[in-house]
Amino acid sequence: MSQQQSNQQQSKKNKFAEFEEEIVKFWDENKCFEKSVQQRPENKQYVFYDGPPFATGLPHYGHILSSTIKDVVPRYWTMKGYRVERRWGWDCHGLPIENIAEKELKISGKKQIEEMGVAKFNEFCRSKVLEFAQEWGKMVKRMGRWIEFENSYKTMDNSYIESVWWGIKQVYEKGLLYEGRKILLYCSRCETPISNFEVAMDNSYKDVTESAVFIKFQAKNQPNLFFLAWTTTPWTLPGNVALAVGSDIDYVKIRQKENEYILAKARLEIIEGEYEIIAEMKGKDLVGIEYEPLYELRGLKELGKKSHYVASADFVTTEDGTGIVHTAVVYGEDDYRLGLELDLPVLPALDETGKFLDIVPKFAGMFFKKANKAVIQDLQERGILYKEEQYTHSYPHCYRCETPLFYNAIPAWFVNVQKIKQQLIEQNEHIHWVPEHIKHGRFLKGLEGAPDWNISRNRYWASPLPIWKCKKCGTVEVIGSKAELKEKAVDPSLITENMDMHKHTVDPIQIRCGTCSEVISRIPEVIDCWVESASMPFAAQHYPFENQEWFEKNFPAQFVAEYVAQTRAWFYVMHVMSTILFGKPSFENVVMTGTIMATDGSKMSKSKKNYPDPWKLFEKYGVDSLRYYLMSTPVMNGVSVNFSEKEVDEIYKKLLVTLWNVHTFYMMFREKQNQNFQPTRQHVLDQWILSKAQLLVQTVTKNMDSYEVIQASRPLLEFVQELSTWYVRRIRDRVKGENEDDRQEALYTLEYVLRLFVKVAAPVVPFITEKIYQELRKEDEPISVHLCDWPTTDISLIQQEVLDAMQLIRENIEKALALRAEAGIKVRQPLPSVTLVGKELPQTYIDILKDELNVKEIHFGDAFTLDTNITEALRLEGLLRELVRQTNTLRKKAKLTIHDCIDLKIQTESEAVKKMLHTYEEEYKKSVLANSLSIVNDSQTNVVKLSEDDVVTLSF
Ligand SMILES: [Zn+2]
Ligand SMILES: [Zn+2]
Repeated sequence: MSQQQSNQQQSKKNKFAEFEEEIVKFWDENKCFEKSVQQRPENKQYVFYDGPPFATGLPHYGHILSSTIKDVVPRYWTMKGYRVERRWGWDCHGLPIENIAEKELKISGKKQIEEMGVAKFNEFCRSKVLEFAQEWGKMVKRMGRWIEFENSYKTMDNSYIESVWWGIKQVYEKGLLYEGRKILLYCSRCETPISNFEVAMDNSYKDVTESAVFIKFQAKNQPNLFFLAWTTTPWTLPGNVALAVGSDIDYVKIRQKENEYILAKARLEIIEGEYEIIAEMKGKDLVGIEYEPLYELRGLKELGKKSHYVASADFVTTEDGTGIVHTAVVYGEDDYRLGLELDLPVLPALDETGKFLDIVPKFAGMFFKKANKAVIQDLQERGILYKEEQYTHSYPHCYRCETPLFYNAIPAWFVNVQKIKQQLIEQNEHIHWVPEHIKHGRFLKGLEGAPDWNISRNRYWASPLPIWKCKKCGTVEVIGSKAELKEKAVDPSLITENMDMHKHTVDPIQIRCGTCSEVISRIPEVIDCWVESASMPFAAQHYPFENQEWFEKNFPAQFVAEYVAQTRAWFYVMHVMSTILFGKPSFENVVMTGTIMATDGSKMSKSKKNYPDPWKLFEKYGVDSLRYYLMSTPVMNGVSVNFSEKEVDEIYKKLLVTLWNVHTFYMMFREKQNQNFQPTRQHVLDQWILSKAQLLVQTVTKNMDSYEVIQASRPLLEFVQELSTWYVRRIRDRVKGENEDDRQEALYTLEYVLRLFVKVAAPVVPFITEKIYQELRKEDEPISVHLCDWPTTDISLIQQEVLDAMQLIRENIEKALALRAEAGIKVRQPLPSVTLVGKELPQTYIDILKDELNVKEIHFGDAFTLDTNITEALRLEGLLRELVRQTNTLRKKAKLTIHDCIDLKIQTESEAVKKMLHTYEEEYKKSVLANSLSIVNDSQTNVVKLSEDDVVTLSF
């Protein structure tokens, strides 16, 4: 890159972004994070759990949001004196990695994986796990997130897996692990069940428009009588074994042309054309009636079970369809329940890859979604289709490969959640949720409705499920540690200290059945990677094999945070695991954030490019602006928020730039400050800003203590605005004036307030606060603001009467300025008086009012009025002010500082201006820092128009 190019690139970077990068380096070089942890006592821990992310993709705004809250809260508690150790973790197992591996290896499906060899496949997955780790590291560092990144734990570590095994054995020993057959959403491409919350989490329900069909099921031996049933999944029709009706629902028999149909009375609207109702009945009257099978099913007879009749079921409604539901038993939760209840024949129609088995030879080998069309066509040709219509419904898809899922009854291992539900609900009472409504809303509802947790997966790259099962006597051995495996293994030499604990390395290890001494093998399933996330609190510590004392003393965590979908995922699984294992929740406080959407409210999407590149945003506004934006928006209250660059820009200006200007103002006068000055704090403005500053400490502390991050952030910006637009503006004259004591009081107060502010703002905006702190820092103080103690509120400095009075006069000022604006008179034009409503105020406030409103007198009365009678003297004064302002604008344009004095030349025809200069020469010179002033006749460079008639040209 040429020098010029690199300069250009640098010039795009904002000044705040530049010093943020310097600060990152400073923290690194001085080991500020490590020091911030180590300087706090070991017996005063504040425990924070980080939900481990996958490194299969690049970090996005969701991660930036959670990374920010996970930094702000620990920084706060660190400053409060706690030892907050933070260690990064990586989620390494499961479908996300396996899918990447399959793509890169150009293979697809389990058959090809097994042909290639599980060992080779798994090792490839292992090599891919941390592919983007470096990118994550860069982002985390640039965002100012303090965490031990290098020494991260990984869910694929053998120590981690061993702890997970231990956890599963505990679940088993408590009688909460069982093997069963359940209806589960199933991905035919990945050939594994997918849990409900995984599907719900990533919004894997997509709206699809498909054919829904109304089918004529002919009543047995009555060629003209049909039951009308409806389905949105025509491919399930070949497997039909029964029809379900609601026993108390009203049904009708209608005649249409030569045929008769039965359907729910409430659904008559679906009938097309003329018809006549010929009978009415209840659902229970239909129960038991037999009908002709749609297809002859291979293997049905052999099962010897009754099928193809009308049954009653409680899930039938008249909301859509016909009020008559077709059931194939294995392709829906309700169907399956009904099937078990009625002992209907179970005849799976699909194989594990989603293709039709041979039960109906016509469709054999066809992919289930593709079979929809073929089935419809076939029924149509046979005259069994009543009608077909397009129907939009939300259909679940695999969250990794986007294949449409179907329900399937497959054998799997489950944690019995029903048995511990009451405890889960009780333990939730001990958790502090932010926002609060989640506790008895979303989370409790999730607990109440939770199904048993399927923890087995029919995949490869995962922790192996530690279950060995005897085929001879049925004994189940659950292994809880490497030592136990070694003890029971047929060949103990296979279990070494560094043995890898993945499927391909553990599968060859056989053990002896504890009951019949048969040599037995591990079951083929691996563990759902959510078990690993759930085990994170103890598995990251390799508990109970290591860190036993530490863990037992420091469990549960004080704090976790994640976005809304984790309520039914990570938060939930951790809660289940810790309730079973330790009888308490995993975390005491939890912040649930909402989701960040694109500006137009759609989902942020890389391909649509509907959001700004975070790196560009960092450079344009500084990370602090983004952090503050995220922490102060309702997304912190669990609400979805459309990302707004405009708001980031606003924060940049109102918070960063304003604060920096205040700081620069102070630094300009710092050399005039007497460091040994003893303040008297007599000035109401000083009293006011000190009161405000202490209130700020109080508010931020209270809200941070209760994890109300929005309420802890917003007052920071409000404070900076008041500091700048009121306090600093009001003290300019004092700082520049002749009264030395008054100057010192003001400078002392401003410094005090700045020092206090950077501490309370440090967790949210760690960079600008550090920068300012560095410049204000005294030699004996900590090297970083983040190593300072959190300030305590000095209540003695909060003067409520000063706050009230100031509030009152500011309101009055606002009103009076509005009157001025209405009358079209600039503030620079002095006016004789204003009358305010209310009681007389002390002189100091009167002075502020006079000054702010530019009036000579303040009266108090019953009405609010402004005297706009401009006398000659007032007009001259107004002209003076206008000229001072314009001259100073020219000074600024010429890039002069307060250290540059000028020689001024003025030329004017205006009598008023001449008169004014005559009266106010000295004051004017002082106000524009002029050494000399001469009235000249020749025309000069800068033309200044003070009013319609008064024009001046001047040069210096
Ligand atoms: Zn899939
Ligand atoms: Zn046995």
